[in-house]
Amino acid sequence: MPFHDPDCLFCKIAAGEVPADIVYSDDHVVAFRDIQPVADEHILIIPRKHIASLSHLEEGDLDIAGHILSAAGKTAEKAGIAASGYRLVFNTGPDALQSVFHIHGHLIGGQKMGWPPF
Ligand code: C5P
Repeated sequence: MPFHDPDCLFCKIAAGEVPADIVYSDDHVVAFRDIQPVADEHILIIPRKHIASLSHLEEGDLDIAGHILSAAGKTAEKAGIAASGYRLVFNTGPDALQSVFHIHGHLIGGQKMGWPPF
């Protein structure tokens, strides 16, 4: 799979070809607000590299997984929800209702949440 998939919406956002409300970005990841938020704060964190889902992560991609987790904390700081708390959710596969096949962590917060999440 190439680094950039020209048919992938999130690759286009990462490349700046499709506009997004970007909260945080660095050489490895981009974090932008979800266009259909499910909470008061809802930000998607994506790697710049095209990887379809968590199930497609390979040994060589483990640094990317680390960059996503590291960016979650930085993004939460930027969004002002680090102290109040947040979740990082990776919908993976049909039961989890994954709809965009480029790994994205949903950073959700800004309000009190419930558990379990379904
Ligand atoms: O986990 P799942 O694959 O369903 O999440 C995809 C997310 O991408 C959705 O929350 C959807 O609102 C978001 N999205 C977006 N901007 C787009 C297309 C989808 O924020 N242009």
